[in-house]
Amino acid sequence: MSEQATAGDLDQRYGAALLPVFGAPQKVLARGTGVHVWDTDGKQYLDLLAGIAVNSLGHAHPALLAAITKQAETLGHVSNFFASAPQIELAEKLLELAQAPEGSGVFFANSGAEANEAAFKIARRTGRPRILALTSSFHGRTMGALALTSKEAYRAPFEPLPGGVEFLEAGDEQALEAALAPGDVAAVFAEPIQGEAGVRPLGEDYLRALRRLTREHGTLLVLDEVQTGVGRTGRWFAHQAIEGLQPDVMTLAKGLGGGFPVGAVVCFGPEAHDLLQPGQHGTTFGGNPLASAAGLAVLGTILEDGLLEHVRTVGEGFTREVLALGHPLIAGVRGQGLLLGIALSEPLAKPLAAAALEAGFIVNAPDESTLRLAPPLIITDTELATFTAALPGLLDAVAARAASTPEGEH
Ligand SMILES: *Cc1c(COP(=O)(O)O)cnc(C)c1O
Repeated sequence: MSEQATAGDLDQRYGAALLPVFGAPQKVLARGTGVHVWDTDGKQYLDLLAGIAVNSLGHAHPALLAAITKQAETLGHVSNFFASAPQIELAEKLLELAQAPEGSGVFFANSGAEANEAAFKIARRTGRPRILALTSSFHGRTMGALALTSKEAYRAPFEPLPGGVEFLEAGDEQALEAALAPGDVAAVFAEPIQGEAGVRPLGEDYLRALRRLTREHGTLLVLDEVQTGVGRTGRWFAHQAIEGLQPDVMTLAKGLGGGFPVGAVVCFGPEAHDLLQPGQHGTTFGGNPLASAAGLAVLGTILEDGLLEHVRTVGEGFTREVLALGHPLIAGVRGQGLLLGIALSEPLAKPLAAAALEAGFIVNAPDESTLRLAPPLIITDTELATFTAALPGLLDAVAARAASTPEGEH
């Protein structure tokens, strides 16, 4: 990038050089430290989205920088013909934090979709033909992960997708029981909190029913914790909020590498562990020393800095403050820890996110009436309070603009 490159230049070059799959980028970002990023015009933003629940330690965290730098100087990549100490340590650490029983194991990938692809293949290996996923699910964009994703607009252009997947109404225990009854279901895929659907928790009762009924019918319970895992909800993994609940397979990515691409599949117990046999799956990059060092730095920092408790306290405090605003457009707050959806009583989330950006806050609108926040886990009450203070004014401005704009012109 030349010194003189302006945001306008870069926008134009982005359009000319990149495929348009994401739509126009909101800004061109230049750098970040801690909970802040700056765009190419030098404007500062409070990052309340963390690259969609990825930058768990914020930007340029010294522990993550040191770990990546040291590992890059030592041994960056080796292929899976070879092992490395960081890879083994990260797998051990994940098993320990997941309280996985004897005989469990980890497969490393590079993204959430890839972790779910591996889980899909594990499910196929049961020999059972059917797989269940839930309405409003999001599991990624590769063909297998897409087959598990319910949104029609994402699926339709790519059919036929891998077969055998059926969608169940999230929360409907009777439908679940009926679907599992024939005993031919390989796995049920579920997100403890559906992030892309607008931060919608499945709820303890339904998660318990999922666990009980899958166990009863010899079906694998696959929990997609790509967005909810690694401290995001104030536990290592969201399912740990429910006493005694453990999946058979758990997928991770997003926050695990703190910005370095790392995905993982954790198989709980010898049965899940033994489904993939030697030669049946693989990856070139997955679990390389550099990625593993990044994962270890993230886990180590969360542990040493007491971030799980911090996330719970800060998340609860923020939720209380937002509700205490008593603003008529705020209908509630969903989620846990620092994965939060502010529910609006009007479909104003998209213009609200745009107004927030102009005011220096990065948030996102996963649907028309939800504002999603997934800030770095290191964020403080004081930093969050700047957003709480700005929120009523942003809501009023967006509502006033909507009221003065004739239907269909926004
Ligand atoms: C983001 C996400 C994925 C996909 O992860 P990618 O790294 O984008 O492939 C899968 N599942 C859930 C729950 C996610 O939030």
